[in-house]
Amino acid sequence: MEIEVIQKVMKVNDEIAGGIRERLRGAGVAAVNLISAPGSGKTSLIESALRALAGRVRVGVLEGDPDTTLDAQRIAVHGVPVVQIQTAGGCHLEANLVSRALDRLPMHDLDLLLIENVGNLVCPVDFDLGETARVAIVSTAEGHDKPAKYPKLFRTTDVVVLNKIDLLPYVDFDETVFAGYIQTINPKARILRTSCRTGEGIDAWTGWLTRAGGVPSSA
Ligand code: MG
Ligand code: ZN
Repeated sequence: MEIEVIQKVMKVNDEIAGGIRERLRGAGVAAVNLISAPGSGKTSLIESALRALAGRVRVGVLEGDPDTTLDAQRIAVHGVPVVQIQTAGGCHLEANLVSRALDRLPMHDLDLLLIENVGNLVCPVDFDLGETARVAIVSTAEGHDKPAKYPKLFRTTDVVVLNKIDLLPYVDFDETVFAGYIQTINPKARILRTSCRTGEGIDAWTGWLTRAGGVPSSA
């Protein structure tokens, strides 16, 4: 009967996600769900975006982590509304956690909500959070085979960010093979190459977020 229980959990999650989607639409907020393995640079990419979008796009952040408020502390330095969701060891965010976190954000004062999921390439994929767009992040140190090993994530994402490209000279990462896997799994997914360390590609990343947030990028 375990399958039935799982189906019920997913159904409840999807209903709550539908409610989140309506709330976001009502408040005019776009939400981006960032999914990756631990250490790929999600928080750093959010920080890069906050620096670039400051004064142009009103950004709020939800931080998902099993323990600690370390990432929320990093985000709070930038002076934007942030809520840390501690999953108490849980390995993904669920819609009910996001829904409760939205109550603590000034939704009508935001254009864009960045949701940093728990570092995990498997189960966050199955949980709709009501997001407008979904981003997969892979760092070059993780290897080019990740799309082949975790196809479900890459099939459901709008954008794939290849982060830490400054490390390419030092790691055995074949970008052609990586892009080939993504092309096979999800030909519509756009690949962005970034380095938070050198700033390379951050313009394209924040440009995409700006469009996702529905804000004119002319400023
Ligand atoms: Mg993080
Ligand atoms: Zn999980």
